[in-house]
Amino acid sequence: MSTSPTLPPLSLYIHVPFCVHKCPYCDFHSTVEKNIPLDSYLAAVKSELAFWRQNLCDDNRPLHSIFFGGGTPSILDGETIGQILFEIKQLWQLSPKGEITLESNPESCNPQKIEQWLHSGVNRLSIGIQAFSQKRIDSLGRPHSLAEAQQAIKYSRQGGFSNINLDLMFATPSQSIKEWQEELAEAMSWQPQHLSCYSLTIEKNTPFAKLQMQGKLLNLSEEDEIAFFTTTRQTLESAGWQGYEISNFAQPGQECQHNLNYWRSGDYIGVGPSAHGRLTKIENNIITVERIINKTIGYKDGSWLQEKTICSTTESGNDCLMMGLRTREGMSRKTYKNLSGADLLTQQPEIVKELQSADLLTVTQEKIALTNKGVLLCDTILEKLIT
Ligand code: SF4
Repeated sequence: MSTSPTLPPLSLYIHVPFCVHKCPYCDFHSTVEKNIPLDSYLAAVKSELAFWRQNLCDDNRPLHSIFFGGGTPSILDGETIGQILFEIKQLWQLSPKGEITLESNPESCNPQKIEQWLHSGVNRLSIGIQAFSQKRIDSLGRPHSLAEAQQAIKYSRQGGFSNINLDLMFATPSQSIKEWQEELAEAMSWQPQHLSCYSLTIEKNTPFAKLQMQGKLLNLSEEDEIAFFTTTRQTLESAGWQGYEISNFAQPGQECQHNLNYWRSGDYIGVGPSAHGRLTKIENNIITVERIINKTIGYKDGSWLQEKTICSTTESGNDCLMMGLRTREGMSRKTYKNLSGADLLTQQPEIVKELQSADLLTVTQEKIALTNKGVLLCDTILEKLIT
């Protein structure tokens, strides 16, 4: 018996586009401002939130999670974060266990701010440590020191945060596997609830891309990339961490609810310059997905601008596949069918069979997931499955 589709959980992302310094590998939308135009930014955020509530998302779903990302949200003090959260709570209800994450950088964490953030309602702190070695922090051109990184974790604990993520980067310039293992060991010794481990990616039009073109920064070979990735998984999983997504590891029950909602094809409101939103609409049992992309202009004068597009069923199915296969649990076949209009198994029977016999994919009644071997070939597998 088929059941009617229902709306997925709804999350909210707020982009804070200010940084104290531009890191040479970064292509996120952020600017370095001598005087942050806080009043104009807040006015634009408040007006955009109200617009979403009145014109785009007028159903009564509570918010599943809120995420302050950037840029450097920790540039903002607790009062400002509190003002934004107050505004949000005037417009939406927050789920009882609603996760509220704030991304922070070590140089802008201090005991007073940490206490204020917690007091304002933030219940998860994600700290951009990136490396546990002064040499590698310098090689990444980060604005903080190792001592500041260690202090930020200490302050967060002492300040009362019981849900802490550390962001780490591997395959950084001239890093060996042994050095990465030592950094992972230090990360675990701080006993965070969550670790995000991403490889350094050289993005176009960044200072690192220029260095690479001049031959001053070597591209990692595929074998090296696999070695770093495998070391990360083996080291963390043998120590009891659950690798629930390609780059994310959690203590049992401490998975990031906000990101899980993205990977499970949930909906999200995106506020702030460059933020993206996604909304599911259901009419007569037919699902459509809208994408809302914010321009980077405005915000300094209280204005903002967004562009809305309707995704085709093929696009929605492909997004579901690309996000779902990143997770250990895999992609929901039902969600894929609701979004794309077809079961992947009937759509791509030969390819699915071939990937199963090569031990790259597992298929159950509910899910399609990559095997340990398949995870290493995620991009190639996606290329084959995407329609
Ligand atoms: S702090 Fe983060 S967002 Fe800001 S420049 Fe560095 S990497 Fe980019």
